[in-house]
Amino acid sequence: MQVENKKLCTGCGACYNVCPVGAIIMQGDEFGFYKPTIDKEKCTNCGLCEKICPLDKFISNNKEPKAMSLVHKDDSVRLKCASGGAFSAFAIQIINNGGVVYGVVWNENIVAVHDRAETIEQLEKMYTSKYVQANTKDTFKYVKKDLESGKTVLFSGTPCQIAGLKAYLRKEYDNLITVDLVCHGTPSPLILEKYKQEFLKENNEENILNINFRSKKRGWGAFYTLIIQTKNKEYCIDGSKSTYLQAFGNLSLNTSCLDCIFNKIPRVADITIGDFWGVDEYDKSLNDKKGISIVLINNQKGQNLLKQIENICKLQEIPLEVVIKRNPNIYSSSKPHKYRVEFLNEVCVENKSLKSCVKRYNKVSLHIALYRLLPQFAKNFIKYKILKMEK
Ligand SMILES: Cc1cc2nc3c(=O)[nH]c(=O)nc-3n(C[C@H](O)[C@H](O)[C@H](O)COP(=O)(O)OP(=O)(O)OC[C@H]3O[C@@H](n4cnc5c(N)ncnc54)[C@H](O)[C@@H]3O)c2cc1C
Repeated sequence: MQVENKKLCTGCGACYNVCPVGAIIMQGDEFGFYKPTIDKEKCTNCGLCEKICPLDKFISNNKEPKAMSLVHKDDSVRLKCASGGAFSAFAIQIINNGGVVYGVVWNENIVAVHDRAETIEQLEKMYTSKYVQANTKDTFKYVKKDLESGKTVLFSGTPCQIAGLKAYLRKEYDNLITVDLVCHGTPSPLILEKYKQEFLKENNEENILNINFRSKKRGWGAFYTLIIQTKNKEYCIDGSKSTYLQAFGNLSLNTSCLDCIFNKIPRVADITIGDFWGVDEYDKSLNDKKGISIVLINNQKGQNLLKQIENICKLQEIPLEVVIKRNPNIYSSSKPHKYRVEFLNEVCVENKSLKSCVKRYNKVSLHIALYRLLPQFAKNFIKYKILKMEK
């Protein structure tokens, strides 16, 4: 069956959810990314998994989006969220109207998984970005059940996960609203696991209770503050010094993220949410340093939900070219790091230290960047020296 071993498989879980005999399991590949594995004994070769796989055949019917800036008026909510609280605004509206929301939470082992919420308390666990590939688990099946029982469902996730859900459902539902993230790409769950283990060892701690990659303790901005909570202490880490976030800058991403067919305009979901990077260049007065979102309204369904949250959010239309200027992941994939495969191989297969590998490979890319800045005669001189050394 071809759903196994697809180079650009995103691990969305559509094939796993659709398999009528439970022959597919989602498990980490050699680098820790969720991928389908087929139990040949159970498989009946019905071909359903291949038929619904969204790779190669997903088409978005959305048009060019309308871009808005969004700030949730309730600061106590906004401060818990990564940006301006766009997700919470839409999700609270759905819950208050009796609907259900699907999004990503940390489970008890601090592993990112999709979950279902029908109360505000359950919803709050979905707030803020878990910068790692999340496991959609059985949620596509639960979404279908909810939709068919007439409930309004909001499903949020990366563009590939939304494409996976839509492919799994195989028909349009008026009561489904989808929200995709502007997506830089998803790091490997195994890299996060390594980071957690090295963190615990270094700090002589037993286990991690929570990770917030986007704490606003020092305000909102491109420089992230990472909070790691253990039983004993709360660690506040400058994002630029965190090995994990350094690797997020393209060393630890999934292969499919570097040639993503879903992360583009027209967008996959009804609504797209992200950070309003570059807000200061556009209008400094919009930025109070507590977080501001960018929202793309991709179709009429998105427009209808936006109308319902007008009274709880500050909204302003922004030209699309302004929001994409500092946020290229709205319309394109991230660029691959030259040594991503070597890095993943050393950390995940050879079990080398994450910290030392990140340090070494980021140093290599710094050297390459500096080399590119040199005038041609200096580059020729270095090449001449290297050739001489090799002889
Ligand atoms: C891996 C990743 C890469 C991102 N890259 C960019 C980027 O390049 N540019 C940009 O502007 N924004 C990016 N974002 C989105 C950004 O970090 C914020 O999530 C977004 O601005 C929404 O913020 P908020 O305040 O509205 O909502 P929040 O309350 O922060 O909402 C969190 C939302 O994100 C979802 N979510 C959290 N973790 C995951 C996950 N691992 N997988 C799928 N869904 C998840 C939750 O289900 C919820 O819907 C990325 C997010 C993730 C998870």
